[in-house]
Amino acid sequence: MPDSQRRVVIVSGGSRSIGRAIAVQLAAEGHDIAFCGRSRSAAAQETAELVRAQGAACFHAPCDVADHQAVETFVKQAEHELGPVYGLVNSAGIVRDSHLVMMPVEDWGAVIDTNLTGTFNFCRTVGFGMLKRRAGVIVNISSVAGVYGHATQANYSASKGGVNSLTRTLAKELARQGVRVNAVAPGFIDTDMTDEMSDKARKEAVAAVPLRRFGTAQEVADLTAFLMSDKAGYITGQILQVDGGVAL
Ligand code: NDP
Repeated sequence: MPDSQRRVVIVSGGSRSIGRAIAVQLAAEGHDIAFCGRSRSAAAQETAELVRAQGAACFHAPCDVADHQAVETFVKQAEHELGPVYGLVNSAGIVRDSHLVMMPVEDWGAVIDTNLTGTFNFCRTVGFGMLKRRAGVIVNISSVAGVYGHATQANYSASKGGVNSLTRTLAKELARQGVRVNAVAPGFIDTDMTDEMSDKARKEAVAAVPLRRFGTAQEVADLTAFLMSDKAGYITGQILQVDGGVAL
């Protein structure tokens, strides 16, 4: 793609799993990529190499999405290295599962701070520039748990439900300036996050999926890249499920 047409996209949680697949797919489609994880890791280094192998420029640094100041600093550095941000994918997320009545208060806070406040922090920080330039796309990685709720995941479901409402609200606020905002809500996807499930829980989960398998990070990345592209130019404010039919 000619340099004049390259667009800079930020991917939070790009160091591993779904975020990595998204960063690499967007790089393959001609975007330059800035991504963050929690820490400086070999995984983050590997993502950067995969992104650069697609011919894309890449900036990465650790950034705790729950820390507003850290997010502002990250975005400033990314724009200094790569140029104005056109796209944002909020993929950083954590789980801390337990029944609500047993849930440690700090597990509630950690999940809301990372998944919901982290999404707010990045949207707020890049949203202003998008408004000024009257161009941009935001894709928030939510979850089917945020649409239907999931037992043992009150914190996670509430955080993702919040992300869905934030997505619709921001879509309304930014549409007039030509900025689109959507969410991708995955079902069970094979990643480090779902590796933590017991064999029993995994078997039960697969049995509940009409397509009888977990999805792949690439399948989430493909939908995200479509929403980022001009082909999705008339789509905003949507929560699109990629879930093998689990919610049917
Ligand atoms: P993983 O646990 O495999 O990876 C999580 C990613 O988020 C890592 O890159 C991690 O960085 C980053 N991260 C976590 N906390 C922070 C933080 N505070 N600041 C910055 N980065 C952070 O998760 P998945 O890839 O499976 O999930 C990605 C997204 O998809 C999440 O939002 C998740 O809720 C959502 N999702 C996942 C599903 C699944 O089945 N896997 C289903 C539905 C939704 P680091 O490498 O430094 O730890």
